[in-house]
Amino acid sequence: MICLGIETTAHTFGIGIVTDKKKVLANIKDSYTTKKGGMIPVKAGEHHVEVCDKVLAQALEKANIKLKDVDLISFSQGPGMGHCLRIGAFFARSLALKLKKPLIGINHCIAHLSIGTMLTQAKDPVLLYVSGANTQVIAYEGKKYRIFGETLDIGIGNFLDSFARYLELGFPGGPKLSQLAEKGEKMIELPYTVKGMDVSFGGLLTNLKQKHQQGIKKEDLAYSLQETAFAMLLEVAERALAHCNKKELLLGGGVACNTRLQEMAKEMCKARGAKCFTVANEFNVDNGAMIAWQGILQYSSGQETKIKDSNILPYERTDQVKVTWI
Ligand code: AMP
Ligand code: MG
Repeated sequence: MICLGIETTAHTFGIGIVTDKKKVLANIKDSYTTKKGGMIPVKAGEHHVEVCDKVLAQALEKANIKLKDVDLISFSQGPGMGHCLRIGAFFARSLALKLKKPLIGINHCIAHLSIGTMLTQAKDPVLLYVSGANTQVIAYEGKKYRIFGETLDIGIGNFLDSFARYLELGFPGGPKLSQLAEKGEKMIELPYTVKGMDVSFGGLLTNLKQKHQQGIKKEDLAYSLQETAFAMLLEVAERALAHCNKKELLLGGGVACNTRLQEMAKEMCKARGAKCFTVANEFNVDNGAMIAWQGILQYSSGQETKIKDSNILPYERTDQVKVTWI
């Protein structure tokens, strides 16, 4: 079985083509970026309309298949930005109707976890999902994917992007701050906000701007913010590991590309006798392959999304998803 998965929760328009034998035939994407300023949702949606046909053609070429060879169409149904989700859903419905193939709507966050277990030896991990809009600690417990901890305000990626935008570094800012951080020398004390199992970045962002205005070097701020924010994330992730009595941590989401976060996660896991799993960057960032693989999992276990039920779900939570594939 071949599934074509469409990802459009935010800045990325991605198409992945994956087989039920776990083979990724293609994973092509085109992401909306800016040189200065942040992401404007309407503009990101327009970007997706502009690139969708091109990305589809590239994915089919890479996979060396024709559209008629596709058995199943999956798309990210939520959570995400309405302007962006709508384009993907529309594109997916059109393809499914044209090809007369089944359609399946996917929860984006769960797809990050499933592609991680497909690509690594991880079997039942706690996922530290760190992306632009989402920051969540997710694990399978009591027949559902549950959120054990999350951000109370902005996602870690949005936090990094906001500070980078403030420094006029452009979007996405995470990689740029990471380069700056390598030149940082001094650890500056910053607000560390963990509340129970949740984290918060709003105060940290304000504090960083104030410190920058006071003349503290941006390299030192970038270095210190990574050390502080990542320690917050790993504290919560570690507590989830202990609470669920699980022995595997999986990193996912665009911020999981960060090598310092990976290093700190490995240290934490080593100290508590757990295993840390990471995937290649193309599967960390938003991508179509994970949507395609999740499509295969759900369709193979009897799920299908009828056109009338294929409306987007911008606020969908992981524990609302019926898990039939485990
Ligand atoms: P996603 O929404 O999962 O595609 O992730 C996008 C987010 O990942 C953006 O906020 C980026 O700034 C962030 N990001 C990408 N690469 C890195 C990196 N190396 N370090 C930190 N953040 C990153
Ligand atoms: Mg994501």
